[in-house]
Amino acid sequence: MSLTPPGSTIGIVGGGQLGRMLARAASRMGYKTHIYTPDKDSPASHVATTTTIGAYQDTTALRAFGQSVDVVTFEFENIPAETLEMLDSIVTVRPKPSVLFTTRHRLREKEFIRAQGIATAPFAPVRSNEELAEAIKTIGVPCVLKTTEMGYDGKGQVVIKSLEDAVVAWVALGKTECILEGFIDFSAEASVIVARSTLGEARCYPLVQNIHRDHILHKTIAPAPFIDTHQAQATQIAKTLAEALDVVGLLAVEMFVTEQGLLVNELAPRPHNSGHWTMEGAPTGQFEQHIRAICGWALGDTTAHRPCEMVNLLGDDWQLWQEYAKQPEAHVHLYGKTDSRPGRKMGHVTIIRRN
Ligand code: AMP
Repeated sequence: MSLTPPGSTIGIVGGGQLGRMLARAASRMGYKTHIYTPDKDSPASHVATTTTIGAYQDTTALRAFGQSVDVVTFEFENIPAETLEMLDSIVTVRPKPSVLFTTRHRLREKEFIRAQGIATAPFAPVRSNEELAEAIKTIGVPCVLKTTEMGYDGKGQVVIKSLEDAVVAWVALGKTECILEGFIDFSAEASVIVARSTLGEARCYPLVQNIHRDHILHKTIAPAPFIDTHQAQATQIAKTLAEALDVVGLLAVEMFVTEQGLLVNELAPRPHNSGHWTMEGAPTGQFEQHIRAICGWALGDTTAHRPCEMVNLLGDDWQLWQEYAKQPEAHVHLYGKTDSRPGRKMGHVTIIRRN
């Protein structure tokens, strides 16, 4: 399978913190990086070799970007499908655009997961008033109404307790296509990240526990305290999905832990916030692993060699770096963002646990 040699240029679509950390890993391995983003002064542009600032619909700028790089990847899911398809006609895109087509749309994603025989929350489509009433009848309350696209960090989703609630919520969501999901009374939230190489080899990182606040990831505990009970199922789920999607690169699988086992909530075919701990806690960090996979290298070791906690620095919390700076076991990562809006991911800190 094709090996992209160091010295080549990796194109990264999206200029956020994931792009920034991918570019750092790529640079260490001898690659140049070229970021394509609509945003000025993006976190990734501070560390990349080159940046193109352009709209995702700007075919002229996209073509020039595609022609100037040796392989393309992406760090962001809400990229228009046509953007990646256009790039794919010029240069190899990894993972391939069809992976994003499935995972960026909650309904397609859940139907795909089910088709692999993997459990999810019960769900039904909502595209009309009739489907909404039907879905509430089938799923029951409480349930969660989510837009099928453009939702992240709890945006575009509402908890529903009655049909009246659902009608109000659907109007508030703009009567756009939605998915209604049963509300899962989980004991914990977990995720696992699998990497898959160009040769189809797959390696999983240990299962981690994720603690959310206001729907945004607050803390990841790695490995998860319940790893012994659930790792085998998590690994099997992640490898099955990565294989079925034919992913080259990383696939993050977010799950609910229930008495009946794991239910898959969401997939992300890219480095994931819940995998940031791997930079200090595993021999191969997730960003290096993604670059290894898309450039045709063998995958690196994913064993956790140090238990960690990763805490996101949201909004003004980035100033806590001053406290963490006094702690030798704390590794602070700041993303170079200047505007610290509430809830915005400004950085994270990974703390190596002693036990
Ligand atoms: P999502 O955007 O699907 O990742 O959802 C964000 C968060 O909302 C999840 O991490 C859960 O804490 C919560 N959530 C989402 N879907 C459900 C569900 N079906 N049942 C219970 N909680 C949910």
